[in-house]
Amino acid sequence: MRKLGAVAVLEVIDALWFALQPYFPWMIGLLVIVTIARFPPLGRGSWSSKRDPWRGYRFAARREVFERAGGRCEAAFFVIWGRCREDAVEADHVYPWSKGGATIVSNAQALCRTHNRSKGAITPPWWYVLGLERRRRTYVQTESTRCVRWEMSVEDRALRHDRV
Ligand SMILES: [Zn+2]
Repeated sequence: MRKLGAVAVLEVIDALWFALQPYFPWMIGLLVIVTIARFPPLGRGSWSSKRDPWRGYRFAARREVFERAGGRCEAAFFVIWGRCREDAVEADHVYPWSKGGATIVSNAQALCRTHNRSKGAITPPWWYVLGLERRRRTYVQTESTRCVRWEMSVEDRALRHDRV
């Protein structure tokens, strides 16, 4: 009886394998697309687990994030298109703090309550970062301020001591 059960299971697996076989190329294609879509931007983002002692945006750094965004949420209206119309309430880490992203202006985006809640601590995929930089072209004049960076520069460090 036991042996018969094992044979039945093998037969089911065999039948499934046979039925799914025509879809294998599609499944592999889908897997490749999902992998590419989730990939972080090459050469950017933090690969170390060293955390910035500053957990959140404060003082001049926080103020600058909101100023750059003109007080408006910087997230996309839909996936990567348009810009959210809500007021910004949070300075969010583009590369999550928990994954080594520094608490610096170039790693920040101003977000509304809804977008801040929905983002969470995920490492952003390449299209997310490029989308943000592309949106910024319409309201941020200097190219260096548009770019997302996770490393701390001399200017970023200086801003921390300017607590006015
Ligand atoms: Zn928003």
